[in-house]
Amino acid sequence: MITFEQALKLIEANNPPPGEEMVLISAALGLVCSEDVRSPLDLPLYDNSAMDGFLLRSKETLAATAENPVLLSIQGVIKAGDDKGGSLGRREACRIMTGATLIKGGDAVLEKEKAVIQNGCVVITTPVPRGKNVRVRAEEIKKLDRVLPKGSVVNPGTIGFVATMGMNTLKVYKKPAITLIATGNELTAPGSPLRAGKIYDSNTAMIQAALEEMRIRPILVRRLKDAPKTIQKVLRFELKESDMVILMGGVSVGDYDFVKGLLEEEGVKTIFWKVSQKPGKPLYFGRKNNHLVFGLPGNPASVFTCFYEYVYPAIRRFMGYKRPYLSSSLLELKQSLKPDPEKFLFVKSKIQNGETQGVMPLKHQQSHMISSLCEADSFVVVPNSDALLREGEKVLVHSLPFAWEGVL
Ligand code: AMP
Ligand code: MG
Repeated sequence: MITFEQALKLIEANNPPPGEEMVLISAALGLVCSEDVRSPLDLPLYDNSAMDGFLLRSKETLAATAENPVLLSIQGVIKAGDDKGGSLGRREACRIMTGATLIKGGDAVLEKEKAVIQNGCVVITTPVPRGKNVRVRAEEIKKLDRVLPKGSVVNPGTIGFVATMGMNTLKVYKKPAITLIATGNELTAPGSPLRAGKIYDSNTAMIQAALEEMRIRPILVRRLKDAPKTIQKVLRFELKESDMVILMGGVSVGDYDFVKGLLEEEGVKTIFWKVSQKPGKPLYFGRKNNHLVFGLPGNPASVFTCFYEYVYPAIRRFMGYKRPYLSSSLLELKQSLKPDPEKFLFVKSKIQNGETQGVMPLKHQQSHMISSLCEADSFVVVPNSDALLREGEKVLVHSLPFAWEGVL
């Protein structure tokens, strides 16, 4: 049986080559730029005013004092968006609004709040230095500057910035096409009546939500019986259509766990099966050409843990993220924990902030138990060992993407 680290390395080594596409910026949130972006424009585009005030010639104000004020006659107004042309004459000033383009001759702006107006003139009592309250063309970005390096993750700020440059598309790495399949004779759709012996399917809705948080809508979601023929038919088709097939349930050693055998019959090469860990020991990973297959053991806690520790980074790597894994931190353990001598443990936990900063392992850790998932925002990562982890020790914590939101 392989270790957690070995399993991660094998998944990493089988990452398929990335695909690229052009998307509208409105659809680019959370995607990764697949090429350098160069600015098609200077930013700012024009010399313009940083304030509402009066545009003037700084030279004419240099000798101004309270005793010997300089009077500049006010000639018109320049609004944002105007393209006036013209120029400032001798001893003239012009009303100007924030963002409005300077006209010839004007090289400084006196703030409205500081201006004294008398008889149609601005009364200047102290010099206004050249460039005062002026935003200079290209002071931030020059045309053809590299403004976004390849590998940048697009956030709302990025989108605003790209829009400033007049662009409405971005070249990004593609999202994977994902098929999500739950298997099990016992599974019933939530909202339907439950017959004897059956249970509700929690995994499908849970992983669909996890994917939705990554802005991924699977191309197909199916709930199948433990019926080899049906599973095989769906697999045969979906292995062609999907970059990733995520199966839940049926990968263990039970008499009705058909998934691994069927995958192999369909030409999927098993890269690994079984990882020395709890929960999620019978985790399966395989590959057919550039199509990846994850088989997650069906217990909800196993599905949840294996998704975030293995599938989530694989999806993010596919999408070009340089740091695909859950973020790690060292936090103080708030309650002692007993490691397993044989297996690597992922302990569902909750991060605490403020005075009690640290991480609290949650109750109900067994694989079939699900209530702690409501509270869990992290895993304490516990390598196999005989030595107790004591309260107060620093432990490695993997934060879930939505961690910190519920922190008090
Ligand atoms: P399996 O991996 O198919 O052996 O399933 C392991 C355990 O997880 C069994 O108790 C199943 O009933 C349960 N299980 C499997 N799939 C689901 C599912 N989609 N939702 C909830 N429980 C499941
Ligand atoms: Mg099953």
